[in-house]
Amino acid sequence: MSFGGSLRHAVEFSGTGLHSGESVRVRIVPNGGKGLRIGSGGRFFPLEQGIPSGDGRGSRVVFPGEPPFQVCTVEHLFAAVAGLGIGDIDMDVDGGEIPVLDGSALPFAEMLYEAREMSPAGFGSSERACLRLFAPIVVTESKGDRLIAASPAATARITYVLDYAHPLVGTSTFSFTLGDAESFLAEVAGARTFALLSEVEGLRSRGLAKGGSLENAVVVGDEGLLNPEGLRFPDEYVRHKVVDLLGDLLLLGMPLHAHVVALRAGHALHLEFVRRLRRLAATAHVGG
Ligand SMILES: [Zn+2]
Repeated sequence: MSFGGSLRHAVEFSGTGLHSGESVRVRIVPNGGKGLRIGSGGRFFPLEQGIPSGDGRGSRVVFPGEPPFQVCTVEHLFAAVAGLGIGDIDMDVDGGEIPVLDGSALPFAEMLYEAREMSPAGFGSSERACLRLFAPIVVTESKGDRLIAASPAATARITYVLDYAHPLVGTSTFSFTLGDAESFLAEVAGARTFALLSEVEGLRSRGLAKGGSLENAVVVGDEGLLNPEGLRFPDEYVRHKVVDLLGDLLLLGMPLHAHVVALRAGHALHLEFVRRLRRLAATAHVGG
């Protein structure tokens, strides 16, 4: 994973916010070497300074200040940025939330891929500092049945194990090595958010996920999918978990050279892992 490239021109996305159901917009512009930043109204903050929080509905990041800046549902846009190795951009968010689009990273990734800048020596060659591990690390949730482990590796690789009680989702594993934009586009970016019908009904009854629909999520009922088009990949669910983890890892603010293995994790644990990596980056192990 390298954040060495940037964009040749601005790109803009607009659509419905998953939570608010309202129209939201994000405009991404190259910033001439200032790293990965997000903000609004001319104020931009480095991603690594954001305070992340996440749950089953997505990841949110808050930047303290007067007034504080908060943005929700960042993970799919961030996954596209990470998967393509794009750095040095300002993400200008209007509406406090990233548009959900089709529930995957693909619409973001396709436009960013078209606009990305190739350096003369090849994409991503001007690599910034990255975090290298010299020993394995593990984060777990309190009961210990969900965990993320990372071991030292020369490149960035993610292996995800999805283990869901629902018979139509079940147990599956997907592994992806970062570094090739075309592989990211073909194998990972298009995997959509999924939810069980029972979860959707619960969210709706609490006034959440107002912008959610079969246009931006795979909904799994007791008897089968509610989406008439079916799945994009036979193992689309676990591939989407890779999208989510990749996006959440962008909040580290630098590439991670490690093999990351996630078992039954979710946004809350992904972000606990990011906090652990940030503490590690603050003390040592940051190389070129
Ligand atoms: Zn997601």
